[in-house]
Amino acid sequence: MLPRDDIETVGDFSITTVVVAPPWYENCYLVKHLPTGRQLVIDPGGDAEVVLAALEANGGNVTEILLTHGHPDHLGAVHELQTALGIGCRAHQEERPIIDGVANWAGALMQRRIRGPESVVYFTDEPTLSFEGFEVEVLFTPGHTPGGVCYVFDGFAFTGDTLFNQGVGRTDLPGGDGRTLSLSISRLLKGLNPKIRLYSGHGPSWTAAEARPWWERAAAYGYF
Ligand SMILES: [Zn+2]
Ligand SMILES: [Zn+2]
Repeated sequence: MLPRDDIETVGDFSITTVVVAPPWYENCYLVKHLPTGRQLVIDPGGDAEVVLAALEANGGNVTEILLTHGHPDHLGAVHELQTALGIGCRAHQEERPIIDGVANWAGALMQRRIRGPESVVYFTDEPTLSFEGFEVEVLFTPGHTPGGVCYVFDGFAFTGDTLFNQGVGRTDLPGGDGRTLSLSISRLLKGLNPKIRLYSGHGPSWTAAEARPWWERAAAYGYF
């Protein structure tokens, strides 16, 4: 198994981290709502067979894929998961150009062939996504990409490549913008309960209480 493969429980959910293969070491998360057995997959970036095995080991019904953004290292396994499980995939409308171009990106950036998603349902603004027994809030956090979002559950959130444990996403790729990312992070952290645990696209998790003072210092020193 790859470097980190943790299962944690937060409230009514179990969160499994599957770290996909080098060079990106992207975190794919399996979120299982324990009372109903429903599972969501956040950012299946690669290693479809490993992700499928982890979903199988978890048991329950795999319901849907949610994408924080459309970079190849976050959606490289979407097509295979959709083929194997017949599930849908959601992302923000503003991310559509990135997702539509993902196969070209993967070739140029990763010298790797991937197939784009079979299908994507695009949402606009900041919807609340309803699943049987629970809801997920969407926060629109552009900057790393034009349509990046964070998914906020009861007690934890997925911040993609918007915010890492003591780091932020790069803004030099097409559609990236440093000032926009800075505003998104400030708004994200302002709105979150300090106790909430933040799971990012790469590296370890931390809490909003840890992230806020770090971000204030980073912003004060002119991070951007
Ligand atoms: Zn990214
Ligand atoms: Zn990434």
